[in-house]
Amino acid sequence: MSKPEISVVIPLYNEEEVFKKLKARLLELKKTISQTVEFVLVDDGSKDNTALLMMELAKEDSTFHAIFLSRNYGHQIAISAGMESARGTEAIMIMDGDLQDPPELLHAFYEKISEGYDVVYGVRRKRKEGIFKKFSYWAYYRIQRMLTETALPLDSGDFSMMSRRVIDLLNDMPERSRYVRGMRSWVGFRQYGLEYERDSRSAGETKYSVGRLFKLAYDGIFNFSNFPLKLITRLGLYTILISLIYISILVVKKIVYDNVPEGYTTTIIALALFSGVQLISLGVIGEYVARIFDQSKGRPLFIINKRVVNKEEKVG
Ligand code: UDP
Ligand code: MG
Repeated sequence: MSKPEISVVIPLYNEEEVFKKLKARLLELKKTISQTVEFVLVDDGSKDNTALLMMELAKEDSTFHAIFLSRNYGHQIAISAGMESARGTEAIMIMDGDLQDPPELLHAFYEKISEGYDVVYGVRRKRKEGIFKKFSYWAYYRIQRMLTETALPLDSGDFSMMSRRVIDLLNDMPERSRYVRGMRSWVGFRQYGLEYERDSRSAGETKYSVGRLFKLAYDGIFNFSNFPLKLITRLGLYTILISLIYISILVVKKIVYDNVPEGYTTTIIALALFSGVQLISLGVIGEYVARIFDQSKGRPLFIINKRVVNKEEKVG
């Protein structure tokens, strides 16, 4: 069987309520695509009928591929599994299965890829969610941007389309804690943010608990930033600085006025100074841990976009 030009990766976890709608939307979309396309459905260990529905669909229509994970691994891993199975030669799109990401954007995404962009990601213009959730997302993306060295675009999730070479690069990154949207930014190349309206969930409940959202948020910061670590060292420095000032005052008081209780000065010195020293030591250890972490992520040092040897040639 020949490879399709476009793959669409869709992770699904307990989505039986939306499945019928999703199927209808995708079949409708398929009619409008002139390229060859495959839909890669990934069942992330669903406990409802999602897997069964997927199986049926894959059997009745060969443009649908169904992959079943052995248990629930989580959204980011499910996406990664889909990306690895996607055979699209030109572009691979990632979208949620709950129809919050309109599949019809495939055309707009693909147009940008054809123009030579390697990554096209959806930027949410409006969220149709509660005010608290909206604010949390808004704040998170901004904090994350402040803290990380890799510039991650604001208000964009995993909804995106990437060129074959970007998918190959992401598949080759061995890091285990996967924050796909971050890795996608990290690879570089020409990236384009396409604004769109994010719909509310078509049916069913969100599969992200608050705990899982926090884990995702942590991955987004800690996988891409050493800043929290540097904060420890800095805190240690400030502590020492302040305690030195305070100690000088105490010593002067003790010598000049002699109105400080016995043993007080030494206690304060030991306490203030050494808590600073301890913080710095932690920071130093942390610096080594960070380097080990960096090394163990095993990302390539750099990615070459193209080489010019007589004529321009794209790499990958
Ligand atoms: N999902 C998944 N595994 C999980 C959680 C979610 O594959 O453990 C899928 C889910 O079926 C959906 C997408 O990931 O297609 C996004 O999840 P959800 O809509 O619950 O997240 P939200 O949009 O609320 O952030
Ligand atoms: Mg959703």
